[in-house]
Amino acid sequence: MTKNILFLAHLDESGNGLPKAAWEVLGAAVELAKELNASLSIGLIGGDVQSTADSLANASAQRVLAVAGSHFAQPRYASDLLAADALCRVAAADLILAPATSRFLRALPGLAHRLGGRVDTHVTSVQVIDGTLCATRWFYRQRIEGVFQRDANPWILLLDSGCHEAFRAPSGKVNIEQLAVDLPADARRTTIAGIRAPKSDSQTIRPDAAMLFVAGAGWTKKQPDGKSHPEQAETLILDFLRASGASLGGSKSLVDQSGENQAVLGFMTHLNQVGQTGATPRHPKGLSTCCHGEEPHVVGWRFINERRAINLDPNCGWARGKADVLYVADAFQVMTKVNELLKNSAS
Ligand SMILES: Cc1cc2nc3c(=O)[nH]c(=O)nc-3n(C[C@H](O)[C@H](O)[C@H](O)COP(=O)(O)OP(=O)(O)OC[C@H]3O[C@@H](n4cnc5c(N)ncnc54)[C@H](O)[C@@H]3O)c2cc1C
Repeated sequence: MTKNILFLAHLDESGNGLPKAAWEVLGAAVELAKELNASLSIGLIGGDVQSTADSLANASAQRVLAVAGSHFAQPRYASDLLAADALCRVAAADLILAPATSRFLRALPGLAHRLGGRVDTHVTSVQVIDGTLCATRWFYRQRIEGVFQRDANPWILLLDSGCHEAFRAPSGKVNIEQLAVDLPADARRTTIAGIRAPKSDSQTIRPDAAMLFVAGAGWTKKQPDGKSHPEQAETLILDFLRASGASLGGSKSLVDQSGENQAVLGFMTHLNQVGQTGATPRHPKGLSTCCHGEEPHVVGWRFINERRAINLDPNCGWARGKADVLYVADAFQVMTKVNELLKNSAS
């Protein structure tokens, strides 16, 4: 029976708060602790964690533990592992709930090995069924949902983002139990000299965006005037992404064309592909444009709650129960108008 739950989190890249997924995991941890009548501890890793700890004051945690300091501000396998190890041992945790961030997906499998426990990643929910703690995750490319339990101590669960209501409560004042962790020289030898990243507006895959915008091969096809207009398509799509902050997905037909060096949308890569052989992103809303809505594509929309599509063809796949709303219209015209409206509302 689970007695001690540890909610484990690292600070986000700004160093001032938690990643979005961590708030959601905390929501799940608070509910589970109540249901199991287990004690809840919070373990934080980061540079200066006081203000973040204060924002968790009303999470009904028995203890707030932290491994803090400049050595723990940056993601690094060796220091994250030792920090998490210390937090789990002091909390005597038998169940550890943590967000499936890239930082923890790297470090926590090693933690499970050190503690003699087990880890499961991409968990979508934790629940008590007939008195037994069970976790849920998808298998076989999101086609089969599995519910499973383990006799592991500790059991480490990395929960995916977008699967639970985020924890929200007023801040307060928290007394943190700071743990001192000695980092041997070889755990410090990797240092971050700087970060080189694409400009945020050229980063088209945005997992936390409120909307998924999908572009299909129709954007590069001959239009009613007998010509294709890839440059205009490119401008319309990029303007929309900039103004709306949406994440960009693509159909397989479109991303395959980019791979063949055809004159198509330069910013589209296989990483954008949504579908059976692509990604299954999670967003509250989705808008599909110039994409036929065939099953191998739409299967990747499983976690998009509200679906809309723009297609010239009233018999496209979206019309067959796959979209909530289908606009039978020319996406070039619709997106020109939408971009105008977004520009006006911003100014
Ligand atoms: C094993 C297997 C795995 C697959 N995996 C995937 C996958 O992961 N993801 C995926 O996407 N596909 C996948 N496919 C391919 C999938 O079946 C379709 O071929 C693909 O999704 C079609 O892409 P599309 O709709 O963009 O292109 P098309 O089928 O060419 O459709 C283009 C659409 O654009 C519309 N259009 C054209 N101009 C306009 C305009 N001006 N305004 C509005 N609409 C316009 C047309 O009416 C048409 O419906 C897979 C197929 C197989 C066999």
